[in-house]
Amino acid sequence: MQTVTLNNGVEMPILGFGVFQIPADETEQAVTEALAAGYRLLDTAAAYQNEEAVGRAIKNSGVPREELFVTTKLWVEDAPAQENTKRAFETSLNKLGLDYLDLYLMHQPYGDVYGQWRAMEELNREGRTKAIGVANFYPDRLLDLIINNEITPAVNQIETHPFFQRVADQELMREHGVQLQSWGGFAEGKNDIFTHPLLSEIGTKHGKSVAQVVLRWLTQRDVVAIPKSVRPDRMAENFDIFDFELTDGQMSAIATLETGASLFFDHHDPAMVQWLSSRRLDG
Ligand code: NAP
Repeated sequence: MQTVTLNNGVEMPILGFGVFQIPADETEQAVTEALAAGYRLLDTAAAYQNEEAVGRAIKNSGVPREELFVTTKLWVEDAPAQENTKRAFETSLNKLGLDYLDLYLMHQPYGDVYGQWRAMEELNREGRTKAIGVANFYPDRLLDLIINNEITPAVNQIETHPFFQRVADQELMREHGVQLQSWGGFAEGKNDIFTHPLLSEIGTKHGKSVAQVVLRWLTQRDVVAIPKSVRPDRMAENFDIFDFELTDGQMSAIATLETGASLFFDHHDPAMVQWLSSRRLDG
């Protein structure tokens, strides 16, 4: 598997498997099938409520721990953030049945972000997580976090797909050594992406599906991708992207699909800030 090297030297697979919106009672099977298909990067979150099922699949897979790259995410914590972040980390780790994480991400740019980040820095220094990063940070918040803390996030996991490409964000991240990881690489199927005429035409030229073209486009841009699927045929399809290359012309053609806006929600929208900040997790 092709990898990217994070800013602290940790190697991260460029392609992984995401489990958002997989119900807890289907997650163990999905992750078992994903591991069998060859995925080694798993992306979950405390908020997805399926960490235990991910942990069971890991345990039963027999895949050596050091071959895996496991990410989970911290939900928005109340003050005292230092204490609550460490408690949330231990809860996630116990649910996953692991004794260290590969990557711990702050899920949202809300709450006591600086308190949360300092606790995450400590967890990183103590070796409890090999790398720390953030998700859903727009450039202004990301840069402020970088400037005002010791450890620069290794990763920023943000909505990135052909309709919202994040080229300028990636430029800034590159300048500061932050790896871009895409969430919603297929835009969760929005805009009829899987039958999109341009993406289908490019796929036909390579004998590949639209999903494969999108994943190839992301990874060719050095973006880490974590497609989600509960279907083994699609898991295999999404994993089979390393035997072809998009031409410069095809990369430029896909660039024209940019709409400049999120297809989901804007993290600057006060209503969304209110909603996400008011959610709390049990246990
Ligand atoms: P996504 O990967 O863009 O799209 C998933 C959808 O595409 C599912 O409906 C899936 O259906 C379908 N699909 C998958 N492969 C396909 C294929 N080859 N052909 C046709 N349809 C296919 O959406 P996502 O799950 O939102 O994003 C990926 C991961 O990013 C998540 O699982 C999660 O780990 C992470 N994420 C993070 C955040 C964050 O705030 N940090 C937010 C959202 C997501 P089936 O399952 O039925 O195949």
